[in-house]
Amino acid sequence: MKHAKPLTDAFDWERARQAQEHVVSSDGTVNWRAAFAADPGVTECPGCKESVWAEADVMRCDCGSLCGREIVEMLRRAREESK
Ligand SMILES: [Zn+2]
Repeated sequence: MKHAKPLTDAFDWERARQAQEHVVSSDGTVNWRAAFAADPGVTECPGCKESVWAEADVMRCDCGSLCGREIVEMLRRAREESK
């Protein structure tokens, strides 16, 4: 897993760390809101096909390619339109 450079609003790792402390409540139940806030999720870089933390909608991977949720969605739409 690697980090890409966020070009839009970036995921807040410090807030995630704080959320992580609240993922499991003292009674043992899982706080899903905190669980989702604790992890940005993962996306795949269309350039090098490696897994990248989804820290922003648009990011620059160290392979030089743009990646992120917005890029993945853009590529998906482009593929559909070319059908
Ligand atoms: Zn890449």
